[in-house]
Amino acid sequence: MGQLRELIDKLHQNRELTLSEYAELIKYRNAEDAEYLRSLAQDEAKQTFGNQIYVRGLIEFSNYCRNDCYYCGIRRSNGAAERYRLSEEDILDCCRTGYGFGFRTFVLQSGEDMGYSDEDICRILRRIRDEFPDCAITLSVGEKSRETYEKFYQAGAERYLLRHETASEDHYRILHPKELSLNNRKRCLTDLKDIGFQVGAGFMVGSPGQTEEHLAADFQYLRELEPHMIGIGPFIHHKDTPFRVEPDGTLELTLYCLSILRLMFPKVLLPATTALGTIHPLGRELGVQAGANVIMPSLSPKSVRGKYLLYDGKICTGEEAAECHACLENRMKRIGYQIVTDRGDYPGWTRE
Ligand code: SAH
Repeated sequence: MGQLRELIDKLHQNRELTLSEYAELIKYRNAEDAEYLRSLAQDEAKQTFGNQIYVRGLIEFSNYCRNDCYYCGIRRSNGAAERYRLSEEDILDCCRTGYGFGFRTFVLQSGEDMGYSDEDICRILRRIRDEFPDCAITLSVGEKSRETYEKFYQAGAERYLLRHETASEDHYRILHPKELSLNNRKRCLTDLKDIGFQVGAGFMVGSPGQTEEHLAADFQYLRELEPHMIGIGPFIHHKDTPFRVEPDGTLELTLYCLSILRLMFPKVLLPATTALGTIHPLGRELGVQAGANVIMPSLSPKSVRGKYLLYDGKICTGEEAAECHACLENRMKRIGYQIVTDRGDYPGWTRE
């Protein structure tokens, strides 16, 4: 397949392909060329980040959600989900624990929980900012107005994760109920970038109805948006959702997409996600070897870990934060990488 290798070289050189070329790159992939792509991507990550892996402490502070995305285990229609909300003090305790491990970034993630007002979130942000002035705070609480995002930024958040999920209207409609819109999702991402956040977009690999063309459109959209972070992971079914019988995304295609993204965006912050670690015991290690440079262990208290279940089989739900941290540190060491105590901003980013 000389042709595929040419496409990979072209991607490496130009940092982008045409829509139909991305689709071909996926459609005609094979083990040998995938290994070529992987090794270019790993080299690329090493040139920017060396053997250093940034770590983000993930605090899943509420699993209440007003939305009903068909793929997600904490969708509002899932009556079997046991709902919880962490108190402010609990959240701060998670940060204290993480700080002790050397974490300098905290990610506050939740469903779209209307139980917190903008003021509540801002107060939490300010408290974290006051107690940990040397740490970055990332929010991931879904779609909000521009005004709300501005308040969050003023209160001290400087990164925001909001996966676009899919850049294609037809595919978006397969994954979401009609009250949600791709346009609004994209509007949010544009606003966030405009305000000055380091922004993370991304998508699930192998979500129901996804074609090579949809993935191609995702790559093209990301090229337009130019996010600072890109979160991708395999779709994994959840037993209490409409997608309970849908096949899961694969390790192989997720790794392939990670490597494509690394060649497109040499400096982007690219996590090896928990979902990747869930579909394969060495998923996160393989993710790093495919070009990822970030890991996001959970800091959530043990009592709620088993409740933030977006998909079945999630790993590390029975562990204490300290165990997860030690385990990941070892896992990275074993493949020749090192977890670092660093905010891990996008290279060159500063707060305006
Ligand atoms: N409410 C926040 C956080 C969503 S959860 C927001 O809207 O951004 C974080 C991510 O988990 C989602 O963006 C989605 O891409 C992913 N996710 C949800 N359900 C999943 C599933 N069944 N399999 C794999 N990933 C899933």
